Amino acid sequence: MLMESTTVGFDALNLADPICRAVRGEKYDTPTPIQQQAIPHLLQGRDLLGCAQTGTGKTAAFALPILHRLSEGHQASGSKGARALVLTPTRELASQISDSFRVYGRHLNLKQALVYGGVSPKPQITALRRGVDILVATPGRLIDLYQQGCLRLDKIEVLVLDEADRMLDMGFLPDIKKIYGMTPENRQSMLFSATLPDDILRLTKHFLKDPVRVSVDPPASTVDRIDQRVLFVDRENKGALLESVLQGDGIERALVFSRTKHGANRIVKNLSKARIKADSIHGNKSQAARMEALRKFRAGKVRVLVATDIASRGLDVEGITHVINYELPNEAESYVHRVGRTARAGAAGVALSFCDAGERGYLHNIERTINRTVTVVADHPYHSESVASRPKRGNTAGRKFSSKRNSNSYGKPGKNQNRKKYFSAKPGKRTRSRSSRSAVSS
Ligand code: AMP
Repeated sequence: MLMESTTVGFDALNLADPICRAVRGEKYDTPTPIQQQAIPHLLQGRDLLGCAQTGTGKTAAFALPILHRLSEGHQASGSKGARALVLTPTRELASQISDSFRVYGRHLNLKQALVYGGVSPKPQITALRRGVDILVATPGRLIDLYQQGCLRLDKIEVLVLDEADRMLDMGFLPDIKKIYGMTPENRQSMLFSATLPDDILRLTKHFLKDPVRVSVDPPASTVDRIDQRVLFVDRENKGALLESVLQGDGIERALVFSRTKHGANRIVKNLSKARIKADSIHGNKSQAARMEALRKFRAGKVRVLVATDIASRGLDVEGITHVINYELPNEAESYVHRVGRTARAGAAGVALSFCDAGERGYLHNIERTINRTVTVVADHPYHSESVASRPKRGNTAGRKFSSKRNSNSYGKPGKNQNRKKYFSAKPGKRTRSRSSRSAVSS
């Protein structure tokens, strides 16, 4: 993530030396805005309400002060206990957060465990037996292990609720309340959420004590770097359009979003018929299959990963050159989140959205949210003029679609014409390497 030179460096945050060394090892020069705003308060032990999305550096914003606190105090967690608990909605995100703790805490001698469902609980139970300093977990499995007596939460010093809005969307509210009740009252608490709807604010009243509020914009610089384009297409031609796009040049690593799990499977099947190797990641797959698909994608063994929104939440995979919205999401926030999977860490990226007649309204909402028009690519073999000229839903009668077209995109071209040009990513600038994320820990 690129930071402005006027911002203070990590040294000014007074984090313990082993943590500063680890951060330097990651080639982070300056704290991101959420890190600058949150870390000093968290080091003082304050509760925090953070309005921030993935991509802002929020993991380090809570992980660094937690590591600092745990490295200073010498309170033991006791057997089956933990000192810091991070709750997160998905297994992939839990795994990523755990990776980050490992990286930032690599010069400290702290124990950690990772707990999520979909895999055998045995290794998790073993890892917890002697107690850990840091526990990263999804709520369901955490409660299962607690109820089986494999885990105690009475020594929790710090509790983090990450991606709180997503947790509530996924129906985790009762679990979260239960977990709060299991932890000590005098804990330090943090809640991070991309949005702050009323139900989150209600939750914060019970969960946080006199919290500091910190809010950072979505990583607009990231979104700005993404070359966003929309391709109008009849629904029945989306499969063929995807094949033709993927057969073009410059697509090194593509993440394709499908609205449903079955849809994701269907896309993979159709691509394999066209001899395009792809894998899928969604909630119906076993955890092992999801991890394996991610591992192959990260390692470059599979070029195309088809995902649903929930499974991809928070994914940080380097080198995704293209995000393809096979279907547009009905929530504009999901669009921002999806396209942010490319152009990570200073790289450039392309986001292509396939928009059919029923999705024009979604596109309209997306454009309003991102406050810009998405460039229309009309010269592709499956361009549908009837979809393109359809008025936007909710638009006043007769007004034409306002997206700017790219200068050479009028008229229907011959098959394959100019395809390379539209779909290749500009060479990206890399600001750091993140070897730790090249493999998924479990
Ligand atoms: P997050 O929002 O926590 O998912 O972080 C997004 C990405 O930013 C991750 O790949 C981090 O490794 C990276 N990152 C976090 N903090 C910094 C920083 N201060 N400087 C550069 N990159 C960072």
